[in-house]
Amino acid sequence: MENRAEASARNDQTARVGVYICHCGGNISDHVDVESLADKAEHLPGVAAVRRNMFMCSDPGQAMILEDLQKGVVDRVVVASCSPSLHETTFRRVLERAGVNPYMYEHANIREQVSWVHHGDAATQKALTLIAAATAKARLLQPLDPLRVEARQHVTVIGAGMAGMRAALDLADRGFSVACIEKTPWVGGRAAALDRVAPTGEAASDLILSLARRIMQHPSITFYPCARLVGFDGYVGNFSLDVEIVPPEVPNDEELRRAHEAWTAKEPVFVPSRGALIAPVPSTPQRFRLETGAVVLATGFRPYVPKHGEYGYGVYREVLTLPQFIEALRDTAPQKGSTLTIDGRPIRSMAMIHCVGSRQIPGLHEEGPSGHLNEYCSRTCCAATLFAAAQVRERFPQTHVFDFYRDIRTYGRGQEEIYQHAAKNKVLFFRFEPENPPQVQPFDGPGGFPLTVSVQDTLTFGEEVHVPVDLVVLAVGMEPSDIGDLVHLMKLPVGADRFLLEVHPKLRPVEMATTGILLAGTCQAPMDIGECCNAASAAASKAAVLLSKGFVTLDPFVAEVDAQKCEGTGACLEACLREGAIRWVEGQRNGQTVRHAEVVAALCLGCGACVAVCPTGAIQVKGSTLAQFEAMVEAIAAEVAA
Ligand code: SF4
Ligand code: SF4
Repeated sequence: MENRAEASARNDQTARVGVYICHCGGNISDHVDVESLADKAEHLPGVAAVRRNMFMCSDPGQAMILEDLQKGVVDRVVVASCSPSLHETTFRRVLERAGVNPYMYEHANIREQVSWVHHGDAATQKALTLIAAATAKARLLQPLDPLRVEARQHVTVIGAGMAGMRAALDLADRGFSVACIEKTPWVGGRAAALDRVAPTGEAASDLILSLARRIMQHPSITFYPCARLVGFDGYVGNFSLDVEIVPPEVPNDEELRRAHEAWTAKEPVFVPSRGALIAPVPSTPQRFRLETGAVVLATGFRPYVPKHGEYGYGVYREVLTLPQFIEALRDTAPQKGSTLTIDGRPIRSMAMIHCVGSRQIPGLHEEGPSGHLNEYCSRTCCAATLFAAAQVRERFPQTHVFDFYRDIRTYGRGQEEIYQHAAKNKVLFFRFEPENPPQVQPFDGPGGFPLTVSVQDTLTFGEEVHVPVDLVVLAVGMEPSDIGDLVHLMKLPVGADRFLLEVHPKLRPVEMATTGILLAGTCQAPMDIGECCNAASAAASKAAVLLSKGFVTLDPFVAEVDAQKCEGTGACLEACLREGAIRWVEGQRNGQTVRHAEVVAALCLGCGACVAVCPTGAIQVKGSTLAQFEAMVEAIAAEVAA
């Protein structure tokens, strides 16, 4: 390994650093004096060219860097722009296209770390300090080779709802072996509770069964019911998953027992609200290990459960959630043309209330037991509510439907027609403000209605409206499934909304920060079934691209031991955050056999904990050596002193 003095001697005099400063529209240049920054950057040691562009990540911006590299004006690059998580890869690729080692690149974040948080001279000075530090490091950069690790052509899908089944089939059809782990005995997920699916009106059971049959028959898919992940280790291409099978308590579950008896190896058995049974229900606990190349998470969502008393829920038996109502509606299917009857009670008039458990406002709505508010829009409930309302009006024309909403948007192809259809079919709409929501109270007027819904209707400029009803249906939003154990085990990033967090919503929309872990469906955000299947297919494509060559390449930013300097103290082993990333090996020094540390590159996190404790400086992280850090610190100190 190169030491600091050698690196400085070799690189300091010869390096030609190109500094490329981005305006980011006005995002950066509105707060940083980019022109004076460029003038000053020209005088930094080792800088051969400084250029500016309105959008450095645009084609013209990239072409500017490419040209300088190809003409030999510069031989390493610093881009001062947004966060490296957004565009570091973009700019490394420019170096590759120019035939230069992509690791001769350093990024300075002058947007999130400067223009978004500072103004005026202070912003310009800080931007210069960051560019000076990046330039000082860039002068000491060395070409690096990416790591190449073997990759298993096997993918594990966790969850067998619509998204999980879609991802498993897409992968299996591309020739990968797939293991599908599902915590219940059933496949189909939440879709199994639906009757018909908007906007096409297909039976949810048909959709589930068509995928379930193909999963059953596919020779490359192994389905594990009643299975959960209990151990997780490894890295992309070589993950090890410990799986535990826990048999359900079949004697207490009549529906499952009957379905199990009816099950044959040829045809799935569908049970409404539960799903399709596609494999025998396990009878004994089991634990085994899966060696897999990538993991697709399809753990789904759960419907929001209203608090006791929220719009009368839990207080009045006539208040149901939309999923409960859809189930009840499914069971009343044969009575077409009559008044809707639920639990033996005729429903002459019913209210539907939107945004229950969604778009919650701090200070206005009460936090849930976990201390969270669901501030997001659940996206699917408008269409689902109107679809149910339209079905009621069509099948039970004597039942009046009143729809209470904050805002309505039935986005997506064919969805707006549901809204129009409901309106034409005499669903009556009232609009309320969030601080003045509908009140559900007992009714003591004529007609024997149990409840009344009162609202100040903003469509009629605040008129007080009281609607006597037999039933209130709450359009509840989506919450992420309870996957705390998985989050903890796999160290998954979770957003402020508690859904799993992708690396970037546009640039890497189905990838997680750990390469090889992908997201499919509503574990990421509220989605309808079509969107879930799109996301699942996207995740399957990503996994296939990652594993298709039989190996994966990883960034080389891992620790490396200089065997000549290692004195075998073992401090690095103790400090190391990743089990197995450092091991002992024997080597020769001055004609003697000595024991020294060695890094298993594919396991190393590149965190540097080992570097901090090594008493002899024998271990360093490639791309972030001590010499490079010292050069950055010196540049910062020089700028601060200036
Ligand atoms: S490179 Fe980053 S800072 Fe520059 S325009 Fe693109 S997004 Fe904005
Ligand atoms: S960089 Fe981190 S993970 Fe890698 S060997 Fe050092 S301590 Fe272990």
